[in-house]
Amino acid sequence: MDASEVWKDVFQNLKSNADVYLGSDKIRQVYKNPGLSISFSVDDLDHRINACIRKSGSSNYDIRILAGLVGALEQHGNEVIHSCPILFSDLDRTDEKRIGIAHSYLLYLWLDFIFCHEWAHALCGHLDFDSRINEWYEFENEEFPAKEIENQISQRLEAEADSVAAKFSLARFSTYWEGLTKELSPNPTGKRALRDYVIAMLLLFKFFEELRARAEKSKNTHPIPFNRAFIFLAFCLGEYSNIPGLPVLSSEDKDLLFGVAAVEFYVKVLGIDPTQYLIKSIEAAKFTESVGRTIESLGMNKYRIYAGKKINVNGKNEGKHA
Ligand SMILES: [Zn+2]
Repeated sequence: MDASEVWKDVFQNLKSNADVYLGSDKIRQVYKNPGLSISFSVDDLDHRINACIRKSGSSNYDIRILAGLVGALEQHGNEVIHSCPILFSDLDRTDEKRIGIAHSYLLYLWLDFIFCHEWAHALCGHLDFDSRINEWYEFENEEFPAKEIENQISQRLEAEADSVAAKFSLARFSTYWEGLTKELSPNPTGKRALRDYVIAMLLLFKFFEELRARAEKSKNTHPIPFNRAFIFLAFCLGEYSNIPGLPVLSSEDKDLLFGVAAVEFYVKVLGIDPTQYLIKSIEAAKFTESVGRTIESLGMNKYRIYAGKKINVNGKNEGKHA
């Protein structure tokens, strides 16, 4: 299959995954305005590495993933499969079919998280609380400094979008982990599937770190990627028992699995000094604590586009993952 065909498939699959979310009756029912519309597209002509959500009418939002981001994540997937030994640790690296499945999994997992993160900006009211903001780019946002939105605020809104995306991503994982792990591992277990999921997601935040390092001047509109990873882990742990269909683990085993995976990733793979890791974790916890206060002080609850206090992520979503 030539490259243009592969890309066409990827774009098509992303679109159908997004449509499963955006068209779900369960989700549509919780919108305050029944006429609300959210659309999704992959911009196959825009080769910048970015994703965006834009408000295009009083209750219309468009989510766009730019083709450059798909390409960059595809490349990141290729690299990490061969360079990160703790990811898919018993995957036969000489088996091209399995490598292909693993690669495809990473790409959809990461793009799904980014899609959910963009969507969360709309769900949480981030495009409605301040009339100066109608477009929200990731990596990093050119708009905020120009419109005098303080980094203190934008970083906490980004953190909130990550927390919602974490819950959606984990709910999606509950629907495919069993089938996927059988295809990837000779000894498939729930623990292995979950550990690979956690490490794969930490590798997405590592990708954010690499993009930041490449940028000429960091704008600090987003939290540092380590804090984003911390929020991801914290919200997965917090939400775990509310999502049916996840690997069955005792509360202690689950905490240990997430904690050990994170330490191995940052200390063993990335080579961060253990004391530094601890200090960074404490700082991340402090940052996470401050998110709720900022959201409250902005009166964000008034601007949520869904009714009720919480977004229900318990529904099973079907989606293409491998
Ligand atoms: Zn964002």
